[in-house]
This record gives sequence, structure tokens and C-alpha cells, in this order.
Amino acid sequence: MPTASPIYDVVVVGAGISGLIATQLLDRAGLNIKCFEARSRVGGRAVSVQQSDLFLDLGATWFWHNEPLVQQLVNNLGLGTFPQAIEGDALFETLVDAPSRLRGNPIDAASGRFQAGASSLALGLAAQLKPGVLELGDPVHSLSEEDGEIVVKSSKQIVRAKHVIIAVPPALAAELIGFTPDLPADVRKAAHPQHIAVMNWAKEKYTLPTQAASAGGFGHELFQQPLGHGKIHWASTEVATEFGGHLEGAVRAGIQAALQTGFNLKS
Ligand SMILES: Cc1cc2nc3c(=O)[nH]c(=O)nc-3n(C[C@H](O)[C@H](O)[C@H](O)COP(=O)(O)OP(=O)(O)OC[C@H]3O[C@@H](n4cnc5c(N)ncnc54)[C@H](O)[C@@H]3O)c2cc1C
Repeated sequence: MPTASPIYDVVVVGAGISGLIATQLLDRAGLNIKCFEARSRVGGRAVSVQQSDLFLDLGATWFWHNEPLVQQLVNNLGLGTFPQAIEGDALFETLVDAPSRLRGNPIDAASGRFQAGASSLALGLAAQLKPGVLELGDPVHSLSEEDGEIVVKSSKQIVRAKHVIIAVPPALAAELIGFTPDLPADVRKAAHPQHIAVMNWAKEKYTLPTQAASAGGFGHELFQQPLGHGKIHWASTEVATEFGGHLEGAVRAGIQAALQTGFNLKS
């Protein structure tokens, strides 16, 4: 290794949100840091495009109110946000029938959006880094341990680091980055599961009917009423009036059906 290659306290691989946060914290702490990003932009899966004064999110889009760190980041970066519109009726369309209108919106929980798109999180973080910290368009190809340091080879340079943070999905890192010594077998195995289970729900007799459901959709009012003179009750996430399609909807529908049954038994 030529002694001239620069040495950093930390090299971060990847400038998605995770890598940018790590880079920003260490940069602020006064460490000598470098962040390599393969693409020519920051943000990774948080990517937005601008159409006149509108920002369209093509990856991450929403944040929810039980996510304090995203909210804190929004505040720190001074980003504008707005609530996702969920008021009004939902339209339900099957393959066979024209769209039908459902009262209210039984699926979506209240969420927030970023005025300048989700990529504004990444752009805001990147803007706070010291000049020269970020290397765009420079994928890391290999990480090798040499003389107590990590030699980092990217497409454009070779640097050394005391520590490296891999802010890339592990399975991708195992595929794209050469490790010397090689990744431990258990780490490689964890990154690449040996078995992938795939289920074709479209062929599941006890989940999907052979014909597309033609009426209703989530939370239809007809399924709130029992049949059989009050003796046959509906449950399942499909009939939930809120969070339909989610586990939360399934739990609510089960509770609702039990309450209805219990009430009818007593009356
Ligand atoms: C379509 C879609 C919709 C989503 N919607 C939401 C949502 O509404 N709300 C939400 O909270 N989350 C959402 N997510 C998930 C969210 O986008 C991710 O959880 C988050 O952005 C992941 O950030 P990360 O930094 O961990 O990874 P990434 O964003 O994947 O960042 C990894 C970075 O590493 C770079 N990289 C890869 N290989 C190398 C290499 N060899 N050298 C250097 N750099 C490399 C990549 O280019 C990338 O920039 C969505 C994701 C997708 C794809």
C-alpha cells in the first residue's frame, strides 16, 4: 500500500439516509471522515423528482407520527411537511366491475409528507457536511484489512481508514464488495439466506376466491350487519372499517365480531 494514500478516521460506504446520518454525526464530532456514494446523487431509496413546483416521490414518501427521529430530523433541517390527504371516500375497483365508492377511507393511517420530497432529508444532511467529505459516483469495490487499517478501494481512489461503516443493505454489500479476509461464513450466510420461501397467494384456495370480489371492499357497511337473523357475523381484515387490509384491521374486525356476537347472545 503506498504510504501516500490518505488515511481517514472513518469511511462510510453509501450515502442513503443511514450513511448520511452516520457521516454527519462523525463529521460534527470533528473526525476526519469520507463518505463514498456509488450513485451521482445522495438519498438512495429516498429519491424525488421535481415537476415545476411539485415534488414527486419515487421511493420513500410518508412518515408517521410514531417516528420521533424522522420528525426530529425534519425539525433540525427546517423542512416543510404537510399531512397526507386521506379525507373523503375511497374508490374500490375490481377486475370485472366499474369502480364503486366506499364511505370514508378505511385503509390509510394519518401520515406526513415532505414538501420538497423525501430526498430533501438526504439533501439537507449532505448540505451540512464539510466540503470534500462526500464522494459521489464512486462505488466502493473492496475492503481489505492491512496492518491494522482498512484499505478501501473505490472506482476512483484507494484510501485507508481506521473504521469503516457499511451503510448498504448487507446482502448487496456481500455481492458488490470484495472483503479481505472474506466475510465470516455466518455473516455471509445471514446476508444471503439459504432458503427463500415464495408463496403465490393468487393460487391459494383458502385465501382468494376464483372470481374477483365484485362488491364491497374494505369495511363495506353490508358486512357490519349479521346475517341469519343476527346469528352469522363477519370478521376478517376485509370487513374492518379502519386499517382494512392490515393486521390492525384483522384484530379490530375480530374484536368487533366478538362484541357483536356476545351482545346478540345476551339480548
Ligand atoms: C418504493 C419504496 C417506497 C418506500 N416508501 C417508504 C415510505 O413511504 N416511508 C418510509 O419510511 N420508508 C419507505 N421506504 C423505505 C426507505 O426508503 C428506506 O428504509 C430507506 O431509504 C433506506 O435507507 P438506507 O440508507 O438504509 O439505504 P439506501 O437508501 O438503500 O442507501 C444505500 C446507499 O448505498 C449506495 N451504495 C450501494 N452500493 C454501494 C457501493 N458499493 N459503494 C458506495 N455506495 C453504495 C446506494 O446507492 C444508496 O445510496 C420505501 C422504499 C421504497 C424502495
